Amino acid sequence: MIQSDNHVHTAFSTDSTTPMEDMLKRAIELGFTSICFTDHMDYGFPSEDGKIEFLLDTPAYFDEMKRLEKIYPQIQIRRGIELGIKEDVVDKCINLVCEYKFDFIIASTHLVDNTDPYFDTYWQGIDEKSAILKYYEATLNNVKSGVNFDVYGHIDYITRYTPYMKKLRKDNLYDDIYSLKNVESFLDIIEEIFKILIYNGKGIEINTGGLKYGTNHPNPHERILKLYHELGGEIITVGSDAHETKHLGYDFNKASHILKSCGFKYYTEFTERISKFFLL
Ligand SMILES: [Zn+2]
Ligand SMILES: [Zn+2]
Repeated sequence: MIQSDNHVHTAFSTDSTTPMEDMLKRAIELGFTSICFTDHMDYGFPSEDGKIEFLLDTPAYFDEMKRLEKIYPQIQIRRGIELGIKEDVVDKCINLVCEYKFDFIIASTHLVDNTDPYFDTYWQGIDEKSAILKYYEATLNNVKSGVNFDVYGHIDYITRYTPYMKKLRKDNLYDDIYSLKNVESFLDIIEEIFKILIYNGKGIEINTGGLKYGTNHPNPHERILKLYHELGGEIITVGSDAHETKHLGYDFNKASHILKSCGFKYYTEFTERISKFFLL
């Protein structure tokens, strides 16, 4: 049984208004033994109105966890971060990781050519295959960047936001054949990414955000999880990517079932950057 959520956002992230304390109370309610907060740090996030977005106030973030630890000793609070990597901010990412004692670092690709695939502009003036390939190429560069992370986040994040997927979502539909095809066309480059991660002792996560979003699959897709397992990948963390309390631990029973069906026996948690394995 999965008793910990390892991808959680709070009001310390630009895209959440949930107080950290509320999220923690919900984790206790769910009977979790620990929670790992992973608020966003995306250096150089493009801003249209000059507002600085996705920059984490790290000292305040650590202070709040220290305060909550004293009030809620019944649950272990781990200090994580979701660090958005892109070429022009690699030095900043490397410095941040050295400066603070994080328990766990998720590296993510949120921006390609300074655009988030979440936005329609990413998909304009380019065919879908090239737009997706560009995302994996950026991820391949990021895993080679020298930033010292623990797992790579939502490897196939891009597949959630293709124009067709967005249209399906609007109509509350999903298309499993399209989803599988959209994964199988890119297995070569994903394999290249995995070989580097595995060689470097890094892992991936299963992110139930895709299930919450309505794609009928976690991120990454089951086919990708199987590939990771076939290549010898063992480190896999479990996270909901919750931004609201109602999504904490989202579909974790399903995640456990999916991981087992892909060949995994254990999931991973990180404390002080050290992995520990738990039976699924
Ligand atoms: Zn993310
Ligand atoms: Zn996230």
